[in-house]
Parts: sequence; structure tokens; C-alpha cells
Amino acid sequence: MITPNRTPWQPDEWQKELRNAFRQPDLLLSYLGIPADGRNFDAHPDFPLLVPQPFAARMRHGDPADPLLQQVLPSLQEREQLPGFVQDPLGEDDAAQGFQRAPSLIQKYQGRILMITTPGCAVNCRYCFRRHFPYQDHKPRAHAQALDLIRSDTNISEVILSGGDPLLLGDQALADLMNQINEIEHVQRIRIHSRLPIVLPQRVTPGLLDTLRSSRCPVALVVHCNHPQELDTQTERAFACLRDAGAHLLNQSVLLAGINDEPSVLGELSQSLFEQGVLPYYLHMPDAVSGTAHFYLSEQRAIELYEQVRAMLSGYLLPRLVREIPGKTSKTPLPTERLPLVEVG
Ligand SMILES: *Cc1c(COP(=O)(O)O)cnc(C)c1O
Ligand code: SF4
Repeated sequence: MITPNRTPWQPDEWQKELRNAFRQPDLLLSYLGIPADGRNFDAHPDFPLLVPQPFAARMRHGDPADPLLQQVLPSLQEREQLPGFVQDPLGEDDAAQGFQRAPSLIQKYQGRILMITTPGCAVNCRYCFRRHFPYQDHKPRAHAQALDLIRSDTNISEVILSGGDPLLLGDQALADLMNQINEIEHVQRIRIHSRLPIVLPQRVTPGLLDTLRSSRCPVALVVHCNHPQELDTQTERAFACLRDAGAHLLNQSVLLAGINDEPSVLGELSQSLFEQGVLPYYLHMPDAVSGTAHFYLSEQRAIELYEQVRAMLSGYLLPRLVREIPGKTSKTPLPTERLPLVEVG
């Protein structure tokens, strides 16, 4: 194994990249040498295009079917209204379901609580279940109330920073937030869910690494990579820095029709992640969000695929295939192989 570059990026690089990110479908297509004829994308989507250049650089030139491009290019199919596909399939914004414990604080499962730290992401993924989320109602920057609640509830042992993308917080804001969480004695773990190490590895700055290194609570960083083509020497460098700073690196993917619904792609994804120091964690069924039906696949098909992947991989490289059912006490594993009952004794 060749030792990757382990130096972080300069603090201002990621913000510069973010300002220069693609925001117009036709500019992204022209960068990729694909004719923008007005029929292969939606020029006026309600959820805008956003793609940082380092991610666009991993797309294949001239290929409209590229799996990275397909995750971010607004499609006219998003306008189709299909029965069963709704704005908030997980009920996260439904106060009646009782998941919200304070503004921008969601608790569904015992012991861990999810904090919405930022309204936005560095990339807009077309399949996202939060694409309709009314972030403006959550005053995500008002963290004080959320922290008060965590302080007062000794059952909370893990705080999950989510978003949007928590690593869109600047180095100082993130350090302040992590310090406040670390001061709460009963919190034992901090988890960060972020797609930035993949789509904008330049986010890995000396300041971020200092914050991770000095965290009292061990940090699990769950990145979000769907396809092996999303990994390159930049992600490898970002992961190496993050691991050196003590973070445990995990990955979650979404199973997406036309993007990664091939056993060979999923197998290669797990192996490439491991080569870069990241362990597979979850493979999520897509949620039935309106505008995303073209990414959806049936549970039957997902289970078939998963069994093929299972046969290819070492056990520790196999992510858990799950879906989210509102009201359950955990993510729900998909029923895979049905085994005959074994008689004991
Ligand atoms: C997925 C999720 C979690 C984390 O669940 P794990 O199974 O521990 O990864 C926590 N809170 C919410 C609201 C979630 O959606
Ligand atoms: S990074 Fe995650 S939360 Fe953000 S748009 Fe993509 S899928 Fe949604």
C-alpha cells in the first residue's frame, strides 16, 4: 500500500471551492463536454443544482449516464407525482409523531439524538430525503436550546451532528459546538454525518483536525459515498488525515436504481472504501420522497442484489441493508435469507 499524502488543506481552500461550485446545470454539462439540449435536465428545479468542482472532476467526460452526474443533475422525471411518494416520508417534520425534542433536535432512538446543525449541504443530491425539509422553520443556528436539552437528559450518550452537513460549519463554529458537547459529562460519543470528505475533501483543514484530536468523546465520522468512482487520491488524503486525528471512519450509502444497483459496483465500493481506511456501515433503501421515484427499487430486488453482494465480500465489508420505518425503535434490517429453524437439544 502506497502511503497517502497526510497533509490537510489550507483553511481557505474549501470555502473558495464552495463559492466556485457549479450552480447551473448547463455549465456543469458544458464542463463535462455534454450538449445541454434542454431535454436531458430540468433547468428550473425547485431543489437547485449544487456540485463542488472536486466532485465534478471525478465524472466521466462526455457521458450523460455517469453515475456521479446522475446523482446531482436535476432530471425532468422529478416533476412526476407518483402515489406513495411524499414530501416527508420519515415524519421528521411532523410534530404529532413526537420526534422533535427541541428546535433542530430529533430523537427517534434510545440513547442517541440528532442535531440539525446547518440548513444546507455542499452538494445537492437528487434522491435526498431532506430535499423538502423546511430548514427555515428550525432556526438551525440556535443551538443553545438543543444543548440545554441534551444537558438535562442523562439518557443521551451519543450526539449525532447532522444537517444539512455539519462540516459546512466553519472551523471555529464547529470547535465551539464540539467543546460544548464535550463538556456534558453523560455524553460518551459524538458522531458526525457528512458528505464533505467525499465531495469537497478540502474541508479537511488543520483546524478541523485539531477539534477532532482534542475531543474528549471519541468521534465516529460517517461519510456518505454511493459509488466507487467517488473515491480518488483526494478522498484518500482526507481520510488519512481524519484517521490520524483519531476519527473512526464509517460509510453509509443509499441503494439507488441506475447508480449503484449492481453487485459488482457495491462490491467494489466496499473494497475501495476499505483500501482508503473506511468501513461500510449502512446501505439504505431509498425513502419514498416525492420527485425521487426514478431512483427507487423494490425490496425484492434489493434483497436479491444484497445476497449477491454478500456472497462476494468478507463479512466486515458488508454494509447492513436497512430501511427506515417511522415509529420503529431502530433502523429496520431488510429480511434477507430465510433460514430453516434449527432444532436445539
Ligand atoms: C439514523 C438515525 C440515527 C442513527 O441510527 P444508528 O442506527 O445508530 O446509526 C439516529 N437518529 C435519527 C433521527 C436517525 O434517523
Ligand atoms: S449530502 Fe446528504 S443531506 Fe445533503 S443533499 Fe446529499 S443526501 Fe441530502
